[in-house]
Amino acid sequence: MEELLDDRIAVDLARLDPEGEILEGEADIVDLDEKYVHPFGGVRYRLRAQAFGTELLVSGRLEQDFELVCSRCGKDFDTTIVVEDFSESYEINEKMQEIVLTSDARDAIILNLPSYPVCDEACPGIELKAKTRMPADDRWSALDSFVTEEERNQEHGES
Ligand SMILES: [Zn+2]
Repeated sequence: MEELLDDRIAVDLARLDPEGEILEGEADIVDLDEKYVHPFGGVRYRLRAQAFGTELLVSGRLEQDFELVCSRCGKDFDTTIVVEDFSESYEINEKMQEIVLTSDARDAIILNLPSYPVCDEACPGIELKAKTRMPADDRWSALDSFVTEEERNQEHGES
């Protein structure tokens, strides 16, 4: 059975500790549906939220698991995109109940996706693999025997 995750990250301003507090959890907020980019699980977050007058500061770490397609060899591979230094500030006032971080956290994860993902730094890619498959031994051995026969005939003719 799949665990049901929150679909948002929010700071409850009414209950926020004036000394600041840590928000921790997992939220299903990266709803990408791309051919080569498949998020799975939720964004795991550990953020510190603190209000300073009319400003709320939120900073911390986000991570999200993805299945990506290697830009060199075309294979699927799993990787974790980590945002070490997520940091946002929000203007707040007494009428506000909460600040929703969902879209900022989602954007931070997506901005950290590699433009050219590779399954491994040492991935040889598709071209090298194609080259090793190329030599066709039969043709070369056939040519060898042909040359030897011709040489033999030449030797015959000369003597
Ligand atoms: Zn690869």
